[in-house]
Amino acid sequence: MPNPARKHTPRRTGNRRSKNSELDLKGSSRCSNCKSFVRPHTVCKECGFYGGKLIIAKKVKKKKEHNHPEGGEEQKG
Ligand SMILES: [Zn+2]
Repeated sequence: MPNPARKHTPRRTGNRRSKNSELDLKGSSRCSNCKSFVRPHTVCKECGFYGGKLIIAKKVKKKKEHNHPEGGEEQKG
């Protein structure tokens, strides 16, 4: 079985891995809606827009509103 003659040095491994983080920005385009970096031909992760249209509606956290069982305006007097 052919095997590699010797293992790569930590420096060489680190150099290779350092390039992985650069891949995201290279050749990427910007979202037309939120201007964040997105991969081409891909729905935006941040806002779910693609081609100027909303493709995936993101869930927005809503604050719980206090429900008044009576429903009317509070009257003091
Ligand atoms: Zn976006």
